[in-house]
Amino acid sequence: MELDLEKLIKIVGKENVRSDPADLIVYGSDSSVHEAPATAVVRPENAEHVQEIVRYANSNKIPIIPRGAGSGMSGQAVPINGGIVLDMKKMNHVLEINLADVYCRVEPGVVDDDLNRALLPYGVFYPPTPASSRVATIGGEIANNASGVRSVKYGAVRDYVLGMKVVMANGDLASFGCRTRVEASGYQLDRLMVGSEGTLGIIVEATLRFAPIPKFRCMGTANYNKIEEAGDTIAEIMASGCQPSLLELMDNVAITAVNKTMNLGLPDVEAILMFEADGMVKEAVDFEVEKIKAVCEKHNGFGIELSYDAKERTRIFSGRKKLFPALSKYQELLSCTSLADDMAVPYSKMAETARKIHEIAKRNNVIMTAYGHCGSGCMHTKILMDPTKKSQWENAKQAVMEVYDYVHSVGGTTSAEHGIGISKAPAFKKEKHDSLNIMRAVKKALDPNNILNPGKLMDAPDDWVTATRLRYKHN
Ligand SMILES: Cc1cc2nc3c(=O)[nH]c(=O)nc-3n(C[C@H](O)[C@H](O)[C@H](O)COP(=O)(O)OP(=O)(O)OC[C@H]3O[C@@H](n4cnc5c(N)ncnc54)[C@H](O)[C@@H]3O)c2cc1C
Repeated sequence: MELDLEKLIKIVGKENVRSDPADLIVYGSDSSVHEAPATAVVRPENAEHVQEIVRYANSNKIPIIPRGAGSGMSGQAVPINGGIVLDMKKMNHVLEINLADVYCRVEPGVVDDDLNRALLPYGVFYPPTPASSRVATIGGEIANNASGVRSVKYGAVRDYVLGMKVVMANGDLASFGCRTRVEASGYQLDRLMVGSEGTLGIIVEATLRFAPIPKFRCMGTANYNKIEEAGDTIAEIMASGCQPSLLELMDNVAITAVNKTMNLGLPDVEAILMFEADGMVKEAVDFEVEKIKAVCEKHNGFGIELSYDAKERTRIFSGRKKLFPALSKYQELLSCTSLADDMAVPYSKMAETARKIHEIAKRNNVIMTAYGHCGSGCMHTKILMDPTKKSQWENAKQAVMEVYDYVHSVGGTTSAEHGIGISKAPAFKKEKHDSLNIMRAVKKALDPNNILNPGKLMDAPDDWVTATRLRYKHN
């Protein structure tokens, strides 16, 4: 691919263009199993830079891949066709915090935790917060429709986006949405950008609403000898009008992994449920927690612990918070891979799904774990496997297919929060088979030269075992 580096240097300055092999490799992967080298890395500092870079890329039909922190788990920011990786992290200013009108305006490279640090003195917070909030950027979160532990009560990123400014594929700057809480003025184009994974435009500014920080939080845990009973608890909590602000499941594989790496001494049971209620009035929080506790007990949850203490809550939650890295150490030589890793299923299928994941893993000779933000319907898995063995990839492939076939058969969806990218595209295409043409028509209308993050979502390869960075190569 012919790239005029001098042209890019003219736009953003020498210090903001990288083309040495080490950078191209680093920017060629994210937190998924995929990798493919970038042709150049460019760091814009403002919207005008983005517009000029995009105009150059469009007139030369060069792929352009926006990138936040690269914490995406499905290969969304991997340049599978090469091209310019647009590192948005220098556009990291909080532009406005407007308490009177309950919104803030931010640049896309602002890190989630930094935004919450800026909001803290005003007694408000931006709630969607994924577990990766220490690094994930607002642009990446919007493009992925991220969500997190508190989404069971507060919702996903899409529920906090009021508006945005976007650089379109021809370099034009467009404003979508508004600054008011409600809007019925035509197509909701800001919503179209949410979950678009960098394929429709480049977000250069976002207007987000926020929520008051609750005065009281009470966290609890319950242990279960049967994972189905934990699943039934989740379903009943959600169907019976309780309002947890967090409802998380950890299965025995997850418990073993965190005990091994963090020495937490969690009980060796089939499942642990973590729950939390929050609010401005302590009596109201007590009421919620007691309701949740009663449902846990009804389904044989035992060893229930409750705490309002901030330090104790952090301790209780630390295993769940650090679960992803802990899983990598579950067993020597096994890598923790993000494959089929964040489905959502209806609440009534939560118990069956947890058991099904273990059955599929056993049948296919891989280790899988069932955990996640189950209160919002999200069931995480990871496949622990030896990636140097071809047979393990074949097993993983079969397991992934069985998981998705099951999830789709019960009315679930391919991705709850981590997005589609490359890894989940085959399952996504199966699930959305009757709307793929509409998605392709939207893409064609907004990006006729197919320069914006090409080869993702509905246009990704049919086999997800492509451009993998783990040691066994398939091609
Ligand atoms: C340990 C760990 C825990 C995680 N936990 C969660 C979780 O709890 N919930 C959750 O939802 N996710 C989670 N994730 C996944 C990931 O962190 C989120 O999807 C996050 O939103 C990605 O943000 P990012 O800045 O890293 O985006 P990147 O990975 O850099 O990019 C993601 C996508 O956004 C696009 N993009 C980035 N910036 C822009 C922009 N300005 N304009 C247009 N498109 C853009 C990219 O092209 C790409 O398609 C986790 C990841 C890790 C590694």
